[in-house]
Amino acid sequence: MKQKICESCGMPMKSIEDFGGKKSENKYCNHCTDNKGNLKSYTEKVKDFKNMIIETNDFGEEQAEKIAKERLKQFPAWKDIEI
Ligand SMILES: [Zn+2]
Repeated sequence: MKQKICESCGMPMKSIEDFGGKKSENKYCNHCTDNKGNLKSYTEKVKDFKNMIIETNDFGEEQAEKIAKERLKQFPAWKDIEI
């Protein structure tokens, strides 16, 4: 079986718990969706990613946001978004 990867953040989705809304047909993982399985907004994802980067690295707010946006742009869900 082909492993599914979240089209918004690249996380591999292995168990049903990893899928947004616990639906195996969801293209996005549980971190990128609300509890119904709908994709979060771009602004929300940038914020999530930014906070994660600040927590795990020594970057300032502005730099972390830039990295977050660059990283998100690599995924199908956000590739056409204007930054
Ligand atoms: Zn995701």
